[in-house]
Amino acid sequence: MTRYPESLQKIILLLRKLPGVGKKTAERYAFQMISWKKEDQELFASLVAGLKKNLTICSECGAIYEGNHCFFCNTTHRDPLLLCIVSSPKDIFSLENTRLYNGLYHVMPGLISPIDGIGPEELHLEHLKNRIQKHAIREVILALDSTIEGDATSLYLKKEIESLGVFVSRLGLGMPMGSSLEYVDEGTLSRAFSSRSPL
Ligand SMILES: [Zn+2]
Repeated sequence: MTRYPESLQKIILLLRKLPGVGKKTAERYAFQMISWKKEDQELFASLVAGLKKNLTICSECGAIYEGNHCFFCNTTHRDPLLLCIVSSPKDIFSLENTRLYNGLYHVMPGLISPIDGIGPEELHLEHLKNRIQKHAIREVILALDSTIEGDATSLYLKKEIESLGVFVSRLGLGMPMGSSLEYVDEGTLSRAFSSRSPL
């Protein structure tokens, strides 16, 4: 069997680390990259190389930002009385695109999953509760995945947050069962956000 040149083979192996990319797709992508203009190849390489240096995970909310300050924690142009809880930093951008929400965010460090050994103690609830109390949050919106893990986490969070005397709502109808927020289209997400209801 003839093997690919080593540098090409290494790129294929790296591309296969991406979600949903199998061997065939990775090979197709890698061969496509060979035909890219030199500037694009260099830009791609330098952007990937700079990801860890240029992007910061906010220690307060868990969002990803570039520069000195977290855009989503800036209460001068965001409503500090609302807090939306999501499963991943990527979900924040999906919700921002609906233009229906202008409050604060909180990215969960994980979702409850007994199979993966993730229990409530992995959710760093103290940090979340401190934020809710510090900002005197009026409403917490649960926008976690509509999966078994997301539902279990939502139920747990609802109980914990309501014990602080804070109103808890959840994205409404239209969220497909078993889906992660990442695969929900913008229209569906907008409707789910507008029709949010008490859990
Ligand atoms: Zn932040």
